[in-house]
Amino acid sequence: MVTLYPYIKERAHIMSLQAGILQDKVGVIFGIANSMSIAWGITENAFSQGAKLILTYQNEAIKKRIEPLAKQVNAIGIFECDVLNEARVDTIFEEIGKKFGKIDFIVHSIAFSDKDELRNEYLYTSRENFNNTLEISCFSFTDIARASRNYLSPRASLLTMSYYGAEKVVPHYNCMAIAKAALEASVMYIASDLGSDGVRVNAISAGPIKTLAASGIGDFRHILRWNQNNSALRRNVTIDDVGKAAVFLLSDMASGITGEILHVDCGYHIVGMKMIDTSNVCEEV
Ligand code: NAP
Repeated sequence: MVTLYPYIKERAHIMSLQAGILQDKVGVIFGIANSMSIAWGITENAFSQGAKLILTYQNEAIKKRIEPLAKQVNAIGIFECDVLNEARVDTIFEEIGKKFGKIDFIVHSIAFSDKDELRNEYLYTSRENFNNTLEISCFSFTDIARASRNYLSPRASLLTMSYYGAEKVVPHYNCMAIAKAALEASVMYIASDLGSDGVRVNAISAGPIKTLAASGIGDFRHILRWNQNNSALRRNVTIDDVGKAAVFLLSDMASGITGEILHVDCGYHIVGMKMIDTSNVCEEV
């Protein structure tokens, strides 16, 4: 008699090898403005690794832009959520929980600051913009973590996006840098609070990328050029570079990593001094 058992076992093994590292995991993505967004780079990579995705958009005007993108990744849901709407941050997770069950990962890729204050000196940041920037770019991550807690699966992973301006002065990053520094501290505190549930919380500190939000930062082209010339890899990161690292942190491959700020910046943060321009070196030095 021929037994099928070894064959079935082998097939199951092959299929498990083919499955992506986020296979069938349900993820919610906040912060896609368009196909240039860092959140879109994460979404595409998560989809290619088998995730079932729920996308959010800030308001009706943005919905039209998000719908075709949602189709490209067979999104299982698309929900409106302005993080300034306190009640909505609660109800969105109630709705998602009811419809799709437990959530395996959440990506928070949201930031805002008045572009008129992302040039010149930090010192003259207005109280209004300071509060608004911190609320949207930092507090919203804490709020999302709190509101989603009862709907997270036991090994869920939360991820937010930071920038080197939280660690060192970068021209014109101003109030956004303060928000990122607070966001990075929040990552540690949320990781500690949710650690008892088995939930991991991390951030990626991405190198500069030309996106809608970045276009508001004064002299951003100079920042891009400087990073390209002086990062260890002598290039800028792409949304795909960030997306791949994000998928790792969101997956069980990073099961022992929490409270971490992972730099995905072509090694810019390890460089202590501008590269020497060999065409202009003084002989006596
Ligand atoms: P982006 O495409 O413009 O994304 C920013 C997102 O934030 C947009 O989807 C925007 O929605 C959303 N947002 C702003 N206010 C919101 C609110 N009240 N409620 C809900 N969503 C809101 O720019 P990005 O560069 O990919 O930015 C994503 C994240 O990466 C940000 O945290 C940013 O600081 C961070 N980051 C960016 C860089 C870079 O160089 N680009 C580097 C490091 C870190 P709307 O479009 O609808 O306003």
